[in-house]
Amino acid sequence: MDAGFDQEMRRRLEALRAQGLGRELRRVDSPQGPRIEIGGRPLLNFSSNDYLGLADDPALKEAAFRAIERYGGGAGASRLICGSLAIHHELEEQLAAYKATEAALSFSSGYATALGAIGALADKDAVVIVDKLAHACIVDAARLSGATLRVFAHNDLDDLERILRWAGEKRAAGSAHGAPSALIVTESVFSMDGDQAPLRELVALKERYGAWLMVDEAHATGLYGNHGCGFVQAQGVGGRVEVQMGTLGKAIGAAGGFIAGSRALIDYLVNRARTFIFSTAPAPAAVGAALAGLRLAASPEGDSRRERLWERARQLTHGNSPSAATPAAIVPIVIGDETRTVETAAALRERGFFIPAIRYPTVARGRARLRITLTASHTADQVAELREALGACGLPIP
Ligand SMILES: *Cc1c(COP(=O)(O)O)cnc(C)c1O
Repeated sequence: MDAGFDQEMRRRLEALRAQGLGRELRRVDSPQGPRIEIGGRPLLNFSSNDYLGLADDPALKEAAFRAIERYGGGAGASRLICGSLAIHHELEEQLAAYKATEAALSFSSGYATALGAIGALADKDAVVIVDKLAHACIVDAARLSGATLRVFAHNDLDDLERILRWAGEKRAAGSAHGAPSALIVTESVFSMDGDQAPLRELVALKERYGAWLMVDEAHATGLYGNHGCGFVQAQGVGGRVEVQMGTLGKAIGAAGGFIAGSRALIDYLVNRARTFIFSTAPAPAAVGAALAGLRLAASPEGDSRRERLWERARQLTHGNSPSAATPAAIVPIVIGDETRTVETAAALRERGFFIPAIRYPTVARGRARLRITLTASHTADQVAELREALGACGLPIP
Protein backbone atom coordinates (compact mmCIF):
# COMPACT_ATOMS: atom_id res chain seq x y z
CA MET A 1 0.00 0.00 0.00
CA ASP A 2 1.20 3.50 -0.80
CA ALA A 3 2.85 4.95 2.31
CA GLY A 4 0.95 8.23 2.15
CA PHE A 5 -2.46 6.74 1.29
CA ASP A 6 -4.08 6.73 4.74
CA GLN A 7 -2.55 10.08 5.55
CA GLU A 8 -4.15 11.54 2.42
CA MET A 9 -7.52 9.98 3.33
CA ARG A 10 -7.31 11.52 6.81
CA ARG A 11 -6.39 14.89 5.34
CA ARG A 12 -9.46 14.80 3.09
CA LEU A 13 -11.71 13.77 5.98
CA GLU A 14 -10.39 16.62 8.11
CA ALA A 15 -11.18 19.07 5.32
CA LEU A 16 -14.78 17.79 5.22
CA ARG A 17 -15.16 17.94 9.00
CA ALA A 18 -13.82 21.48 9.12
CA GLN A 19 -16.75 22.51 6.89
CA GLY A 20 -19.32 20.74 9.05
CA LEU A 21 -19.68 18.15 6.29
CA GLY A 22 -18.27 15.08 8.04
CA ARG A 23 -20.55 12.06 8.06
CA GLU A 24 -20.49 8.91 10.12
CA LEU A 25 -22.53 5.78 10.47
CA ARG A 26 -24.69 5.29 13.52
CA ARG A 27 -25.26 1.67 14.36
CA VAL A 28 -28.93 0.86 14.93
CA ASP A 29 -29.59 -2.20 17.09
CA SER A 30 -33.32 -2.53 16.39
CA PRO A 31 -35.65 -2.89 13.42
CA GLN A 32 -37.03 0.23 11.74
CA GLY A 33 -39.93 1.83 13.57
CA PRO A 34 -40.97 4.96 15.45
CA ARG A 35 -38.54 3.90 18.20
CA ILE A 36 -35.04 2.79 17.31
CA GLU A 37 -32.15 1.87 19.53
CA ILE A 38 -28.80 3.55 18.99
CA GLY A 39 -25.86 2.94 21.31
CA GLY A 40 -28.11 1.17 23.82
CA ARG A 41 -30.42 4.15 23.92
CA PRO A 42 -34.00 4.25 22.61
CA LEU A 43 -34.70 7.26 20.39
CA LEU A 44 -37.88 8.51 18.77
CA ASN A 45 -37.18 8.11 15.09
CA PHE A 46 -38.31 10.90 12.74
CA SER A 47 -35.80 10.13 10.01
CA SER A 48 -36.85 7.12 7.97
CA ASN A 49 -38.60 6.88 4.63
CA ASP A 50 -40.65 3.93 5.85
CA TYR A 51 -43.73 6.15 5.48
CA LEU A 52 -46.35 3.43 5.86
CA GLY A 53 -44.53 1.62 8.66
CA LEU A 54 -44.12 -1.51 6.53
CA ALA A 55 -40.38 -2.23 6.89
CA ASP A 56 -40.89 -4.27 10.07
CA ASP A 57 -44.41 -5.48 9.29
CA PRO A 58 -45.07 -9.19 9.99
CA ALA A 59 -46.61 -9.63 6.51
CA LEU A 60 -43.40 -8.47 4.80
CA LYS A 61 -41.19 -10.62 7.02
CA GLU A 62 -43.38 -13.67 6.44
CA ALA A 63 -43.33 -13.10 2.65
CA ALA A 64 -39.54 -12.78 2.70
CA PHE A 65 -39.23 -16.09 4.60
CA ARG A 66 -41.54 -17.81 2.14
CA ALA A 67 -39.58 -16.45 -0.82
CA ILE A 68 -36.35 -17.78 0.69
CA GLU A 69 -37.91 -21.20 1.29
CA ARG A 70 -39.14 -21.39 -2.27
CA TYR A 71 -36.28 -19.70 -4.20
CA GLY A 72 -33.31 -19.65 -1.83
CA GLY A 73 -31.04 -16.95 -0.53
CA GLY A 74 -29.71 -15.60 -3.80
CA ALA A 75 -30.82 -15.27 -7.42
CA GLY A 76 -27.61 -16.78 -8.75
CA ALA A 77 -27.08 -14.59 -11.81
CA SER A 78 -28.38 -11.60 -13.69
CA ARG A 79 -31.93 -11.80 -15.03
CA LEU A 80 -30.70 -12.39 -18.60
CA ILE A 81 -28.44 -15.29 -17.61
CA CYS A 82 -30.54 -17.58 -15.37
CA GLY A 83 -31.71 -15.30 -12.55
CA SER A 84 -35.14 -14.37 -13.94
CA LEU A 85 -37.10 -16.13 -11.24
CA ALA A 86 -40.87 -16.49 -11.29
CA ILE A 87 -41.05 -14.17 -8.29
CA HIS A 88 -39.39 -11.34 -10.26
CA HIS A 89 -42.03 -11.74 -12.97
CA GLU A 90 -44.78 -11.77 -10.35
CA LEU A 91 -43.42 -8.54 -8.86
CA GLU A 92 -43.38 -6.87 -12.28
CA GLU A 93 -46.93 -7.98 -13.08
CA GLN A 94 -48.09 -6.58 -9.76
CA LEU A 95 -46.19 -3.33 -10.32
CA ALA A 96 -47.72 -2.86 -13.78
CA ALA A 97 -51.19 -3.49 -12.36
CA TYR A 98 -50.61 -1.03 -9.49
CA LYS A 99 -49.27 1.66 -11.82
CA ALA A 100 -51.86 0.86 -14.54
CA THR A 101 -49.15 0.59 -17.20
CA GLU A 102 -48.61 -2.11 -19.82
CA ALA A 103 -45.47 -3.39 -18.14
CA ALA A 104 -42.84 -2.84 -15.47
CA LEU A 105 -39.21 -3.79 -14.84
CA SER A 106 -37.56 -4.16 -11.44
CA PHE A 107 -33.99 -3.29 -10.50
CA SER A 108 -31.90 -3.92 -7.39
CA SER A 109 -32.34 -0.33 -6.15
CA GLY A 110 -33.86 2.98 -7.11
CA TYR A 111 -30.37 4.30 -7.72
CA ALA A 112 -29.63 1.48 -10.16
CA THR A 113 -33.00 2.10 -11.82
CA ALA A 114 -32.19 5.72 -12.64
CA LEU A 115 -28.70 4.85 -13.86
CA GLY A 116 -30.00 2.05 -16.07
CA ALA A 117 -33.05 3.80 -17.50
CA ILE A 118 -31.54 7.21 -18.24
CA GLY A 119 -28.40 5.57 -19.63
CA ALA A 120 -30.54 3.50 -22.00
CA LEU A 121 -32.73 6.41 -23.12
CA ALA A 122 -30.05 9.09 -23.62
CA ASP A 123 -26.72 8.98 -25.42
CA LYS A 124 -24.11 11.59 -26.25
CA ASP A 125 -26.35 13.18 -28.88
CA ALA A 126 -29.24 13.61 -26.43
CA VAL A 127 -30.17 16.50 -24.17
CA VAL A 128 -31.23 15.62 -20.62
CA ILE A 129 -32.93 18.38 -18.63
CA VAL A 130 -33.27 17.90 -14.88
CA ASP A 131 -34.87 19.87 -12.08
CA LYS A 132 -32.32 21.70 -9.91
CA LEU A 133 -33.41 19.69 -6.85
CA ALA A 134 -33.53 16.28 -8.53
CA HIS A 135 -31.92 13.39 -6.65
CA ALA A 136 -28.22 12.59 -7.03
CA CYS A 137 -28.98 9.36 -8.92
CA ILE A 138 -30.69 11.36 -11.68
CA VAL A 139 -27.78 13.78 -12.00
CA ASP A 140 -25.24 10.94 -11.94
CA ALA A 141 -27.23 9.02 -14.55
CA ALA A 142 -27.44 12.02 -16.86
CA ARG A 143 -23.70 12.64 -16.53
CA LEU A 144 -22.82 9.00 -17.09
CA SER A 145 -25.00 8.82 -20.22
CA GLY A 146 -22.72 11.34 -21.91
CA ALA A 147 -25.74 13.47 -22.91
CA THR A 148 -25.69 17.24 -22.72
CA LEU A 149 -26.99 18.00 -19.23
CA ARG A 150 -29.07 21.11 -18.56
CA VAL A 151 -30.60 22.06 -15.21
CA PHE A 152 -33.79 24.11 -14.82
CA ALA A 153 -34.62 26.13 -11.69
CA HIS A 154 -36.72 24.14 -9.24
CA ASN A 155 -40.28 23.67 -10.56
CA ASP A 156 -39.75 26.72 -12.81
CA LEU A 157 -41.73 26.14 -16.01
CA ASP A 158 -40.45 29.33 -17.69
CA ASP A 159 -36.85 28.29 -17.17
CA LEU A 160 -37.63 24.80 -18.46
CA GLU A 161 -39.33 26.27 -21.54
CA ARG A 162 -36.29 28.43 -22.25
CA ILE A 163 -34.10 25.29 -22.28
CA LEU A 164 -36.63 23.32 -24.33
CA ARG A 165 -36.63 26.07 -26.94
CA TRP A 166 -32.84 25.88 -27.12
CA ALA A 167 -32.95 22.06 -27.34
CA GLY A 168 -35.51 22.27 -30.15
CA GLU A 169 -33.24 24.55 -32.19
CA LYS A 170 -30.28 22.25 -31.53
CA ARG A 171 -32.29 19.27 -32.82
CA ALA A 172 -33.45 21.18 -35.91
CA ALA A 173 -29.78 21.74 -36.72
CA GLY A 174 -29.00 18.02 -36.36
CA SER A 175 -30.62 15.07 -38.08
CA ALA A 176 -31.65 12.59 -35.39
CA HIS A 177 -34.78 10.85 -36.69
CA GLY A 178 -37.48 9.96 -34.17
CA ALA A 179 -35.38 11.25 -31.30
CA PRO A 180 -37.05 13.63 -28.86
CA SER A 181 -35.87 17.19 -28.47
CA ALA A 182 -34.90 16.31 -24.89
CA LEU A 183 -35.50 13.97 -21.98
CA ILE A 184 -36.86 15.87 -18.97
CA VAL A 185 -36.35 14.18 -15.60
CA THR A 186 -37.91 15.32 -12.36
CA GLU A 187 -39.29 13.99 -9.08
CA SER A 188 -43.02 14.08 -8.39
CA VAL A 189 -42.51 14.66 -4.65
CA PHE A 190 -39.10 16.10 -3.78
CA SER A 191 -37.01 14.12 -1.34
CA MET A 192 -35.57 16.89 0.82
CA ASP A 193 -38.41 19.45 0.72
CA GLY A 194 -41.56 17.34 0.39
CA ASP A 195 -43.01 19.69 -2.23
CA GLN A 196 -44.50 18.55 -5.54
CA ALA A 197 -43.75 19.08 -9.20
CA PRO A 198 -46.42 20.81 -11.34
CA LEU A 199 -46.92 17.61 -13.33
CA ARG A 200 -49.90 18.67 -15.45
CA GLU A 201 -48.08 21.79 -16.64
CA LEU A 202 -44.85 19.84 -17.18
CA VAL A 203 -46.69 17.32 -19.35
CA ALA A 204 -48.34 20.06 -21.43
CA LEU A 205 -44.97 21.74 -21.92
CA LYS A 206 -43.05 18.61 -22.93
CA GLU A 207 -45.79 17.72 -25.40
CA ARG A 208 -45.58 21.18 -26.95
CA TYR A 209 -41.81 20.77 -27.48
CA GLY A 210 -41.70 17.11 -28.48
CA ALA A 211 -39.72 16.09 -25.41
CA TRP A 212 -40.00 12.97 -23.24
CA LEU A 213 -40.74 13.03 -19.51
CA MET A 214 -39.41 10.72 -16.81
CA VAL A 215 -40.84 11.10 -13.30
CA ASP A 216 -39.14 9.68 -10.21
CA GLU A 217 -41.86 8.73 -7.72
CA ALA A 218 -39.49 7.60 -4.94
CA HIS A 219 -41.35 9.66 -2.32
CA ALA A 220 -44.82 9.34 -3.84
CA THR A 221 -45.15 5.60 -4.48
CA GLY A 222 -47.45 4.16 -1.82
CA LEU A 223 -48.58 7.62 -0.71
CA TYR A 224 -50.49 9.56 -3.37
CA GLY A 225 -53.15 8.64 -5.92
CA ASN A 226 -55.54 5.67 -5.90
CA HIS A 227 -54.36 3.29 -3.17
CA GLY A 228 -51.05 5.13 -3.23
CA CYS A 229 -50.18 4.24 -6.82
CA GLY A 230 -48.41 7.57 -7.28
CA PHE A 231 -48.63 11.30 -7.85
CA VAL A 232 -48.58 10.88 -11.64
CA GLN A 233 -51.90 9.03 -11.44
CA ALA A 234 -53.19 11.50 -8.81
CA GLN A 235 -52.59 14.30 -11.32
CA GLY A 236 -54.35 12.38 -14.09
CA VAL A 237 -51.34 12.25 -16.42
CA GLY A 238 -50.53 8.54 -16.23
CA GLY A 239 -51.02 7.93 -19.95
CA ARG A 240 -48.90 10.92 -20.96
CA VAL A 241 -45.68 10.32 -19.00
CA GLU A 242 -43.21 8.20 -20.98
CA VAL A 243 -41.25 6.82 -18.02
CA GLN A 244 -42.47 6.35 -14.43
CA MET A 245 -39.87 5.37 -11.87
CA GLY A 246 -40.19 4.33 -8.24
CA THR A 247 -38.42 2.63 -5.38
CA LEU A 248 -39.53 -0.32 -3.28
CA GLY A 249 -37.33 0.71 -0.36
CA LYS A 250 -39.35 3.60 1.03
CA ALA A 251 -43.12 3.49 1.57
CA ILE A 252 -43.23 -0.06 0.17
CA GLY A 253 -40.94 -1.15 3.03
CA ALA A 254 -38.61 -3.53 1.16
CA ALA A 255 -35.78 -2.88 -1.32
CA GLY A 256 -35.40 -2.40 -5.06
CA GLY A 257 -36.51 0.01 -7.75
CA PHE A 258 -38.67 -0.10 -10.85
CA ILE A 259 -39.69 1.48 -14.12
CA ALA A 260 -43.33 1.33 -15.21
CA GLY A 261 -44.39 2.17 -18.75
CA SER A 262 -45.21 0.75 -22.15
CA ARG A 263 -44.33 -2.80 -23.22
CA ALA A 264 -41.97 -1.34 -25.81
CA LEU A 265 -40.12 0.70 -23.16
CA ILE A 266 -39.70 -2.30 -20.86
CA ASP A 267 -38.53 -4.61 -23.68
CA TYR A 268 -36.02 -1.94 -24.71
CA LEU A 269 -34.70 -1.54 -21.14
CA VAL A 270 -34.19 -5.32 -20.86
CA ASN A 271 -31.89 -4.92 -23.86
CA ARG A 272 -30.15 -1.68 -22.97
CA ALA A 273 -30.28 -0.85 -19.24
CA ARG A 274 -26.76 -1.70 -18.10
CA THR A 275 -27.56 -1.82 -14.36
CA PHE A 276 -30.21 -4.41 -15.21
CA ILE A 277 -28.11 -6.46 -17.61
CA PHE A 278 -24.80 -6.54 -15.74
CA SER A 279 -26.02 -7.05 -12.17
CA THR A 280 -27.22 -10.08 -10.22
CA ALA A 281 -31.02 -10.20 -9.91
CA PRO A 282 -32.47 -8.96 -6.60
CA ALA A 283 -32.48 -11.58 -3.83
CA PRO A 284 -35.74 -13.53 -3.43
CA ALA A 285 -36.22 -12.23 0.14
CA ALA A 286 -36.25 -8.60 -1.05
CA VAL A 287 -38.66 -9.43 -3.88
CA GLY A 288 -40.98 -11.35 -1.56
CA ALA A 289 -41.03 -8.46 0.90
CA ALA A 290 -41.67 -5.99 -1.94
CA LEU A 291 -44.61 -8.06 -3.20
CA ALA A 292 -46.15 -8.10 0.28
CA GLY A 293 -45.44 -4.38 0.72
CA LEU A 294 -47.16 -3.57 -2.57
CA ARG A 295 -50.12 -5.77 -1.69
CA LEU A 296 -50.49 -4.00 1.66
CA ALA A 297 -50.03 -0.52 0.19
CA ALA A 298 -52.75 -1.22 -2.39
CA SER A 299 -55.22 -2.61 0.16
CA PRO A 300 -57.79 -0.94 2.45
CA GLU A 301 -55.18 -1.37 5.21
CA GLY A 302 -52.89 0.81 3.05
CA ASP A 303 -55.66 3.42 2.79
CA SER A 304 -56.04 3.57 6.57
CA ARG A 305 -52.27 3.84 7.05
CA ARG A 306 -52.18 6.76 4.60
CA GLU A 307 -55.02 8.42 6.51
CA ARG A 308 -53.11 8.00 9.76
CA LEU A 309 -49.94 9.41 8.16
CA TRP A 310 -51.73 12.52 6.87
CA GLU A 311 -53.36 13.00 10.26
CA ARG A 312 -49.89 13.09 11.86
CA ALA A 313 -48.65 15.46 9.16
CA ARG A 314 -51.53 17.84 9.87
CA GLN A 315 -50.86 17.54 13.58
CA LEU A 316 -47.18 18.42 13.17
CA THR A 317 -47.77 21.42 10.92
CA HIS A 318 -51.16 22.37 12.38
CA GLY A 319 -52.45 22.59 8.87
CA ASN A 320 -49.94 25.33 8.09
CA SER A 321 -47.98 23.42 5.50
CA PRO A 322 -47.39 25.55 2.39
CA SER A 323 -49.12 22.91 0.31
CA ALA A 324 -51.84 22.08 2.80
CA ALA A 325 -54.04 20.87 -0.05
CA THR A 326 -51.59 18.01 -0.62
CA PRO A 327 -50.11 16.84 2.65
CA ALA A 328 -46.44 15.88 2.95
CA ALA A 329 -44.66 13.27 5.04
CA ILE A 330 -41.37 15.16 4.63
CA VAL A 331 -41.12 18.30 6.75
CA PRO A 332 -37.83 20.21 6.46
CA ILE A 333 -36.65 22.84 8.93
CA VAL A 334 -34.01 24.77 7.01
CA ILE A 335 -31.33 26.15 9.34
CA GLY A 336 -28.73 27.06 6.72
CA ASP A 337 -25.35 26.81 8.39
CA GLU A 338 -23.93 23.27 8.30
CA THR A 339 -22.24 23.23 11.71
CA ARG A 340 -25.24 24.77 13.47
CA THR A 341 -27.51 22.18 11.89
CA VAL A 342 -25.29 19.34 13.15
CA GLU A 343 -25.30 20.87 16.65
CA THR A 344 -29.09 21.21 16.62
CA ALA A 345 -29.49 17.58 15.56
CA ALA A 346 -27.19 16.58 18.44
CA ALA A 347 -29.25 18.65 20.90
CA LEU A 348 -32.41 16.89 19.70
CA ARG A 349 -30.68 13.54 20.09
CA GLU A 350 -29.88 14.47 23.70
CA ARG A 351 -33.60 14.94 24.19
CA GLY A 352 -34.29 11.53 22.69
CA PHE A 353 -35.15 12.42 19.07
CA PHE A 354 -33.39 11.09 16.02
CA ILE A 355 -33.63 13.62 13.17
CA PRO A 356 -30.79 13.80 10.67
CA ALA A 357 -28.87 16.95 9.74
CA ILE A 358 -29.04 17.02 5.95
CA ARG A 359 -26.13 18.91 4.38
CA TYR A 360 -24.20 19.43 1.17
CA PRO A 361 -23.97 17.60 -1.18
CA THR A 362 -27.45 16.22 -0.43
CA VAL A 363 -28.73 19.82 -0.45
CA ALA A 364 -27.02 23.03 -1.59
CA ARG A 365 -24.31 24.62 0.57
CA GLY A 366 -25.81 26.98 3.14
CA ARG A 367 -29.19 25.18 2.89
CA ALA A 368 -28.54 22.62 5.63
CA ARG A 369 -31.64 21.43 7.39
CA LEU A 370 -33.28 19.02 9.76
CA ARG A 371 -35.38 16.66 7.70
CA ILE A 372 -38.32 15.37 9.71
CA THR A 373 -40.19 12.45 8.25
CA LEU A 374 -43.46 11.08 9.57
CA THR A 375 -44.80 7.58 9.28
CA ALA A 376 -48.15 5.92 9.81
CA SER A 377 -46.66 4.17 12.86
CA HIS A 378 -46.05 7.36 14.83
CA THR A 379 -48.61 8.00 17.55
CA ALA A 380 -50.26 11.37 18.17
CA ASP A 381 -48.38 11.53 21.50
CA GLN A 382 -45.03 11.06 19.78
CA VAL A 383 -45.77 13.90 17.36
CA ALA A 384 -46.84 16.10 20.29
CA GLU A 385 -43.53 15.31 22.02
CA LEU A 386 -41.66 16.24 18.86
CA ARG A 387 -43.41 19.61 18.66
CA GLU A 388 -42.45 20.28 22.24
CA ALA A 389 -38.80 19.32 21.68
CA LEU A 390 -38.55 21.53 18.57
CA GLY A 391 -39.88 24.43 20.59
CA ALA A 392 -37.44 23.75 23.45
CA CYS A 393 -34.55 23.80 20.96
CA GLY A 394 -35.70 27.19 19.72
CA LEU A 395 -36.76 25.85 16.35
CA PRO A 396 -39.73 27.17 14.43
CA ILE A 397 -42.49 24.62 14.47
CA PRO A 398 -43.05 23.97 10.79
C1 LIG B 1 -34.05 7.24 -2.36
C2 LIG B 1 -34.19 7.83 -3.71
C3 LIG B 1 -33.76 7.13 -4.85
C4 LIG B 1 -32.98 5.86 -4.74
O1 LIG B 1 -33.78 4.80 -4.38
P1 LIG B 1 -33.10 3.57 -3.60
O2 LIG B 1 -34.08 2.48 -3.79
O3 LIG B 1 -32.93 3.99 -2.19
O4 LIG B 1 -31.79 3.31 -4.27
C5 LIG B 1 -34.04 7.66 -6.08
N1 LIG B 1 -34.67 8.85 -6.22
C6 LIG B 1 -35.06 9.55 -5.15
C7 LIG B 1 -35.76 10.85 -5.35
C8 LIG B 1 -34.82 9.08 -3.87
O5 LIG B 1 -35.18 9.80 -2.82
